[in-house]
Amino acid sequence: MRRKFIVGNWKMNGSRDSIHEAKGIAEAAKNYPSVDVALCPPFTLVAGFAFALPEFSIGGQDCHVKPSGAFTGSVSAAMLADARAKLVIVGHSERREGLGETNDEIKAKCEAALTEGLRVIVCVGEPLSVREEGKAIDYVLAQVAGSLPYALLKDPSQVAIAYEPIWAIGTGLTPSSDDIAAMHGAIRAALGDAGEVMAILYGGSVNGDNASEILHLPDVDGALVGGASLTADKFVPIIAAAA
Ligand code: 13P
Repeated sequence: MRRKFIVGNWKMNGSRDSIHEAKGIAEAAKNYPSVDVALCPPFTLVAGFAFALPEFSIGGQDCHVKPSGAFTGSVSAAMLADARAKLVIVGHSERREGLGETNDEIKAKCEAALTEGLRVIVCVGEPLSVREEGKAIDYVLAQVAGSLPYALLKDPSQVAIAYEPIWAIGTGLTPSSDDIAAMHGAIRAALGDAGEVMAILYGGSVNGDNASEILHLPDVDGALVGGASLTADKFVPIIAAAA
């Protein structure tokens, strides 16, 4: 049985003071025991949040493929685990598009994270031009096939996929409910047996107004939320909508 999974991706936002929001979110999350909730703040805040909120899930937004070494500016999955992170996001479109990350790299990051005992959220999603050409499902299924380390799927429940259409991120636009359900159903079918236990999250302009409809679509197991996860007053209604 898959549990609902609501994850906040703070991207490059937040300061030490934001612990007040994180505490508010963690406290409210206890009222919804059927929902797994996690927050992924910037690297600078991961250890502080994780030690302040030991019962709550804090994660990173990326990891390096190697455990350590001469990689200036990078943070490894081992370091995230050492900072008490419980999960990590890999392959976000802001890294695929902005930093040229490939499926092969994302697959290696996924393996590194699983090796360190982190739950992994692998992001996929099409640009607007691909959606307009009618090729979104083929495009996303190729990303799924290329980014997941099937050899390491001993426990597929440790891997979640986040479908985030690039044109829906931070724009206030979302696909129609039919389009979200069709994409999630196609991903689930492509995953085979692993798909029985892997969560498939939707991301892109999720907010307190649209969460309930999106989260109750077939094959939608949760949400990866950007802007609306930064404060407890915006994020908690999304958690409530999943319950
Ligand atoms: P928004 O919720 O701000 O559209 O961001 C979605 C996202 O990219 C989460 O990873």
